[in-house]
Amino acid sequence: MGLLKKWKERAAYSLCPVRCPYCDRVIEQNDIACRKCKSSFPDMCYKRYACGGHPCAAAFPYDGTYARAVRCLKFHNRADYAKPLAAQIVQAILETLEDKSFDLVTCVPMHKKDKARRGYNQAELLARECAEIMGLPYVETLVKFIRTKPQHKAKFQDRIHNVRGAFCLIDRDLIRDKHVLLIDDIITTGNTLGECAKNLYWGKCRFVSCAVVCTTVGRNMEKNAD
Ligand SMILES: [Zn+2]
Repeated sequence: MGLLKKWKERAAYSLCPVRCPYCDRVIEQNDIACRKCKSSFPDMCYKRYACGGHPCAAAFPYDGTYARAVRCLKFHNRADYAKPLAAQIVQAILETLEDKSFDLVTCVPMHKKDKARRGYNQAELLARECAEIMGLPYVETLVKFIRTKPQHKAKFQDRIHNVRGAFCLIDRDLIRDKHVLLIDDIITTGNTLGECAKNLYWGKCRFVSCAVVCTTVGRNMEKNAD
């Protein structure tokens, strides 16, 4: 790392110290969590399947301090949490996905009006950080052109219809014959990731793997169980 970059990082740290995403304590500049939170991490990551049978790695259950971290990233302007949370996504990928021959990283897109209102898409921040950690290109591949109800507000049986047809592929040349790593913040029913993966397969990609910070249900779910 160049001296100037190092100096800039130190200056930024002293103005705005890095904080643990799970409890908001100040932590070392390049750390991903405080010692206390790290010691209570689950000893195994989670493997789910998005609708359509696409494997999905998840770092944490969606509860307690993990849910807090995702909610802060999503609703309370804590974009600074994206980097440490992405480090946990990469850890989950290493532990749970068999085929790691990814060519590029992409994310579940937000509708442009929703993104403008929030100021950023949290899934994009996570995907960009994952790409950086893994040394892969981040590529915008999908657009969300229908504004849908937030999945957590839709009734369970309505969630498939809520996102169906909401996304479209930007350019099939971006993904043809590629193994795409698709990132989101949470997997609930797996419908959103499944719908995005469907569009990527229409574009003739080779394979879609998914990864998220949190899952709402337990580890090692059976294929298509959601
Ligand atoms: Zn902590």
